[in-house]
Amino acid sequence: MPMTDSRWLESPRRYTGQKTGNALVAWLNGGQKEMLSWSNDRQWKQRMLEELLQDATVVFGRLYKYSTHHDFYVASKGKKSSVRFWDCYERLNKMLLSFTQAPWINLNEFYEKNPIVWSVKDDSPAALVAPQIGWFIELIKQGVILRIRRCQECSKWYFARFNHQQFCGDLCRGKHHAHTETFRENRRKYMREYYQLKKSGKVK
Ligand SMILES: [Zn+2]
Repeated sequence: MPMTDSRWLESPRRYTGQKTGNALVAWLNGGQKEMLSWSNDRQWKQRMLEELLQDATVVFGRLYKYSTHHDFYVASKGKKSSVRFWDCYERLNKMLLSFTQAPWINLNEFYEKNPIVWSVKDDSPAALVAPQIGWFIELIKQGVILRIRRCQECSKWYFARFNHQQFCGDLCRGKHHAHTETFRENRRKYMREYYQLKKSGKVK
């Protein structure tokens, strides 16, 4: 009797998406503490991945707004705001088209529910970041690439569990709201003082 039945029945898409997302995020955040000691090689890899993610965020952020190609076409026709989209779209595709990938079977991945693994070949410029590129493409295929985000507070990378998530965690969310509150409070104070000065005729 096969002993893996229950494992294979788990919702694999979601599981894999989160796992892949966490792997990419861990790698992106991995070197941050020892940023100064980074080799040129690591910096180059990091930059390449970050550029891919930036372009993908613009491209898919737009594509997911529409449900058909026709809707997309109608909404984008002649719009100035489309320039950035097309720039990112072209750069992303140029990069993706430079990858040479080959399918193979990896025992470890097989038992992680990936019977076929795509591997970037040595003659591709992306070979140095092969696993990270693999995760990047996998996340696009699973429709969760927009979940890879940078925290607005601490700029760490994270995989958003919910679509509306804007921070890496509760701590950063709290900090951000505290800043916002202080800012609002200062502005209220300033406006109060300003009106008092105005009333007294000291400013016009
Ligand atoms: Zn954060």
